[in-house]
Amino acid sequence: MMSGTWITLQPGVDVAAVRASLQALGLWTEAILGTQGGPPALAVAPHSRHVPVRDIVAVPGVQDVMTAPSAHPRVDAQAGVQVPVGRALIGGPGGAVLVAGPCSVESEEQIEAAADMVARAGAVLLRGGAFKPRVSPYSFQGVGRTALTWLRRAAERVGLGVVTEVLGEADVDEVAELADMVQVGSRNMQNFALLRAVARTGRPVMLKRGMTARVEDWLLAGEHLLAGGASHVVFCERGIVGFDPSTRNLLDLGAVALLKHVHRQPVMVDPSHAVGRRDLIPALSRAALAAGADGLVIEAHPEPGRALSDGAQALDEQVLGDVAREMKAAAAR
Ligand code: PEP
Ligand code: MN
Repeated sequence: MMSGTWITLQPGVDVAAVRASLQALGLWTEAILGTQGGPPALAVAPHSRHVPVRDIVAVPGVQDVMTAPSAHPRVDAQAGVQVPVGRALIGGPGGAVLVAGPCSVESEEQIEAAADMVARAGAVLLRGGAFKPRVSPYSFQGVGRTALTWLRRAAERVGLGVVTEVLGEADVDEVAELADMVQVGSRNMQNFALLRAVARTGRPVMLKRGMTARVEDWLLAGEHLLAGGASHVVFCERGIVGFDPSTRNLLDLGAVALLKHVHRQPVMVDPSHAVGRRDLIPALSRAALAAGADGLVIEAHPEPGRALSDGAQALDEQVLGDVAREMKAAAAR
């Protein structure tokens, strides 16, 4: 709300005094000359705190507040929302939620074992891809539709909800039927035809950030989903392309803080795809929670050494449990 906001003042007021009162509310302003000799107006700096309009007009000397129309009004209207997904509440008072599971659903036995391990860790949602967006056509592409039924059955047995990625328009209905929240992957963030098809199902969507997408483009992709009928959009930061191959991607925690504290959106962090190596995931998880994440999406596998995709970043049961305990401790603080 604060970016693109102007405050007009009553004639003859002490501008410095009004600015001081506004600053006490957390609003940083710059005086701009009024038109046609009228009193000056104040431009609100984008880094200012979110302050309701009624509190601004209550400041002595303020005449009115004007806000430029937003390019993503439906996303803005989600500000502060709590998103029910299965038995989880994302952005709710209970603290950050844990979503965990393997990169790929590989077999019925594997996803059953993964579900047990994820439930024991205290996660609320089970993740796992049936359709995998792989860079090489010769890499494992996912089992496909059969894996969706395995995933659902395993999750239900242990009382978890399901988040899974839809890769193509042809699979949208089947994925939406079996998932509590539909995942749109980084590579598809701006696949507008897919966004529209997913939106039509009315399901909540976890929208991963395109690895080269600006925050504004991400918000606009969320607007596509909400305009098309999605019940909610949960934004998931998963690392953007950096220049340094030491880590797989560059986790943009500034964007997480921006989405959470300025745009007040439900936001999750996937440290697994961000850093790409299991040893750094506990540290990045702590950092994500400190930046304001409403949840973590973490890859974990019952036998990480045998994973058919993303094994290097898969946590085993013990480390997943450590991360989960740290999340609980952080929520209790
Ligand atoms: C995934 O979550 O399995 C995945 C492929 O993630 P991303 O779209 O972020 O690469
Ligand atoms: Mn993966």
